[in-house]
Amino acid sequence: MPKDFLAGIQAEYDVVVIGSGLAGMTSANILGRAGHRVLLLEQHYKFGGLATWFKRPGGHTFDISLHGFPYGMLKSCKRYWNDEIASNIVQLKNIRFDNPMFSLMTTYNREDFTDLLATQFGVARQTVSDFFDTARGMNFYDDQSMSTRELFEKFFPGRSDIVRLLLEPITYANGSTLEDPAITYGIVFSNFMAKGVYIYEGGTDDLVSKMQAEMVRNGVDTRIKCDVTKILVDRRGVRGVEVNGREIRCRAVVSNSNLRSTIFKLVGEEHFDPKFVEEARGVRLNNSSTQVYMAIKPGVEIPESTGDLLFCSTANEFRTDLLLDRNITSRTFSFYYPRTRPDGKQRHAIVSSTNAHWKDWADLSEEAYAASKQELIETTLDALEKYVPNCREKIEWVEAATPRTFHHYTKHLSGASFGTKFEGLGVSRGLPQQIRGLYHAGSVGIIMSGWLGAINYGVIVSNEVDSMLTSNTGLPAVPQ
Ligand SMILES: Cc1cc2nc3c(=O)[nH]c(=O)nc-3n(C[C@H](O)[C@H](O)[C@H](O)COP(=O)(O)OP(=O)(O)OC[C@H]3O[C@@H](n4cnc5c(N)ncnc54)[C@H](O)[C@@H]3O)c2cc1C
Repeated sequence: MPKDFLAGIQAEYDVVVIGSGLAGMTSANILGRAGHRVLLLEQHYKFGGLATWFKRPGGHTFDISLHGFPYGMLKSCKRYWNDEIASNIVQLKNIRFDNPMFSLMTTYNREDFTDLLATQFGVARQTVSDFFDTARGMNFYDDQSMSTRELFEKFFPGRSDIVRLLLEPITYANGSTLEDPAITYGIVFSNFMAKGVYIYEGGTDDLVSKMQAEMVRNGVDTRIKCDVTKILVDRRGVRGVEVNGREIRCRAVVSNSNLRSTIFKLVGEEHFDPKFVEEARGVRLNNSSTQVYMAIKPGVEIPESTGDLLFCSTANEFRTDLLLDRNITSRTFSFYYPRTRPDGKQRHAIVSSTNAHWKDWADLSEEAYAASKQELIETTLDALEKYVPNCREKIEWVEAATPRTFHHYTKHLSGASFGTKFEGLGVSRGLPQQIRGLYHAGSVGIIMSGWLGAINYGVIVSNEVDSMLTSNTGLPAVPQ
């Protein structure tokens, strides 16, 4: 008999969280800790969403999205998870750039960037300081008409080399382009510049297992292989969910599924105002990614001077559209030294990441798809050769992921790595006004994407759900 992943489930909960990405798990944890009856349903066979990993023979573990996040993650984990998780957050000190315009190593914080811009790029310190202050002063309620291109043009006119230095990592971090509102850049860039780039020591597997244990301690009922097919609503609001052929009642749903899937597939557009539906249709998905995972043979060392994160490119100029081009010229290499997993088997791994378009991969025949993946691997190894000489001899395992892979494991439409463009934030925030008890927490609007953005959005939404559940506004009891 097939296993029943809903065995022992209750007939009703206060809240059902759909999806175990960082936003979903954080919401579930906070709401469980507040004493609500919470059910977390994940369609995949493990928790974490895009914060994930996989293992390969020889003691190799690959992280998918553990490349770097701002210091704020430490505070958020301490407050909304626990001290043990927060204490594993450590700084990456060697951030390296190598392209036809410049080559440099930096700790990627305001102090170091100020020195670099002044000494290596010849910019007056006052201009640099004004730029940093402007970026840091941006917030969600600011005028959103200025684009990132205009912001750069204001402070560094005609300096495409500086634009490259300032934007390239953020484009990788969340798909930002020069055309996006400057606040999406300003907020994320300033978050990083506050104290540099951090990762989780112990690896994503350790983080997610500690988060799962914490959720269980807080009374959250956590389930894998539970694919929610419908959010049930009636004229009073959310009534429950349909999962693995069963109905479970609840007063609120936090969907961590893709925003557009939540509206159009899980709820159904007939339940929303036509104007809201139109707005939701206009929400653009962010781009997807390709990655190449490379495991180094046991005993082979990679010197730490190679860098932790390497933004490399052979393109003479910097254009955000080139970063998405099928003809890859720019890559981010993440080097994982044995210290990434101090208790592990002392392995080195390298992951190359590139932003990518879904359409370039979606409709390839199986044969063409396999050939394209192989080409991606070969061109990546060619590019790595400059930084790790004789790399083909040093690597014992290599494989690639594409937008199709990300879609397959997370159900994100078009394999979106970073949720939606900016307009998604307003639509996500508008859901509870449309349907009582319906919330979305997950990567949206560039600002709320990435590990820190997703966690912080989970916090914001869980506070709203908590107020709704505990308010005395005569909300209906769970329908019988
Ligand atoms: C290649 C790559 C590299 C990245 N690198 C970084 C990085 O270095 N730093 C950083 O900060 N961020 C990075 N990110 C982004 C970051 O991983 C994501 O923004 C973040 O993890 C998203 O969290 P989320 O809460 O939005 O949910 P997601 O991770 O998108 O998870 C959503 C979950 O919902 C589940 N789900 C969907 N539909 C259903 C359903 N119907 N029923 C049940 N479950 C469902 C999915 O299976 C999934 O587990 C990267 C992303 C990618 C793809």
